[in-house]
Amino acid sequence: MPGEAARHADHPQGTASVARPSYPLRTPAGRASPTRGGGSSANAAYTGHVSRGDGRLSHNLDPRDQSPQDACGVFGVWAPDEEVSKLAYFGLYALQHRGQESAGIAVSDGARIVVFKDMGLVSQVFEEPVLNTLRGHIAVGHCRYSTTGSSVWENAQPTFRSTESGSLALGHNGNLINTPELAARIPAGELTATTDTEVLTALLADGEGGVEETALEVLPLARGAYSLVFMNERTLYAARDPQGIRPLVLGRLEHGWVVASETAALDIVGATFVREVEPGELIAIDEAGVRSTRFAVAEPKGCLFEYVYVARPDTSIAGRSIQATRVDVGRRLAREHPVEADLVIPTPESGTPAAIGYAEESGIPYGQGFVKNSYVGRTFIQPSQTIRQLGIRLKLNPLREAIEGKRLIVVDDSIVRGNTQRAIVKMLREAGAKEVHVRISSPPVAWPCFYGIDFATRAELIAGNLSVEEIRQSLGADTLGYISLDELIAATQQDKSRLCRACFDGVYPIDVAEDARGKHLLEEARR
Ligand code: SF4
Repeated sequence: MPGEAARHADHPQGTASVARPSYPLRTPAGRASPTRGGGSSANAAYTGHVSRGDGRLSHNLDPRDQSPQDACGVFGVWAPDEEVSKLAYFGLYALQHRGQESAGIAVSDGARIVVFKDMGLVSQVFEEPVLNTLRGHIAVGHCRYSTTGSSVWENAQPTFRSTESGSLALGHNGNLINTPELAARIPAGELTATTDTEVLTALLADGEGGVEETALEVLPLARGAYSLVFMNERTLYAARDPQGIRPLVLGRLEHGWVVASETAALDIVGATFVREVEPGELIAIDEAGVRSTRFAVAEPKGCLFEYVYVARPDTSIAGRSIQATRVDVGRRLAREHPVEADLVIPTPESGTPAAIGYAEESGIPYGQGFVKNSYVGRTFIQPSQTIRQLGIRLKLNPLREAIEGKRLIVVDDSIVRGNTQRAIVKMLREAGAKEVHVRISSPPVAWPCFYGIDFATRAELIAGNLSVEEIRQSLGADTLGYISLDELIAATQQDKSRLCRACFDGVYPIDVAEDARGKHLLEEARR
């Protein structure tokens, strides 16, 4: 197998291997290094120095003000007549926005599981020859942003583990909040990675019964957010936590089944939406068809921030289109925070649907105020100090002729630390804007998320410390208006009681112990 460096021991009923690329060394930015060849030393250097392996320059521009980092994307497919590795590839490609640090696919041909994973974007990790070697009829795939454990190869997913009767590969979207408690059930020294997912994989693999039986015992022990896809050699599984915090949907191919984080991934692989995986449900898919088992009573608390920022606009959650929700939020925002102006502009792309809605409702023309460099995530050159100081300009450059002399309404989806919006206001003023009115299509993000979205800590969140008026002053805007929580919820067409909105109101649907709040808690426990 091209690029394979490490094969793990054969198993009595199924061999398994985890591929760790050793082809010409990729730098953390994901490009082949001309000076350092493959082999074990290259691997050691590679994994030892990767802090952010995705090569996204945008992360480096202003480390003080990252956008909310998404949790992960998961994808699973059971389809005997399909090239499942390619379906998984394109499924992950559609879910790339959910995690850009690493990507991996595990494939089973019924007798053995092969896992291939690496740091970087899906398109950087997988090349056609690699996908061609991943043959079988079951696959699970994962693209990761780290919410527990560092961004290193060992923590990339799918995770892999031998079981009593074969082996298991697993991808996880979400974040567990009782990881130390679960880790205490695993014999010391058995964990190689430092993630909640590794702990869950070990528990699922170590059961004395079959995978399904073990899952029904183990899943009720896990607390927090988990949308899972996993498989042994013969069966694809999908499970969702009792609160259903992260999305997970089931789709149908002509001769097979797909599970994915978002409906958009179903569309892209030609699957039709069947239904959402229910909170507290375990689904098993094999030759016998689809089996559903409840392992917990459903207490739905879907993530409200999925509607605001995380999910793709062409995805639907609970039957509601994300794009339609965001446009509706814009209309409501216009009613809640009207202002006289000449032009409504979005912060591309995340502010676009709400800006359209704001313009529709207010009657103020909609226009583009910025040109966005769509390729900013794909440059591998570290910016020079001068360019770094220009910061956001590398991503967004104002269209002076559209802006000059105008009273502008600029619509964005959220404010985390405020550095980005401050830079935008400054840029618009420098480009000649007469007035700059900032409108935000979510309420103030004032509380951290422990269920799989990596915001700043409360101390770093600008709304955790300042009033709206103080934030306005800090941004340098003429006016600032956030949508209210009630209006945002109304736009989702969901009942408030079925949504987690903790980052906005501080009401956490699942209590989080103080000692379970760190991203690196397993690494810290080992020190
Ligand atoms: S805290 Fe916010 S981001 Fe986290 S699950 Fe709840 S609504 Fe979503």
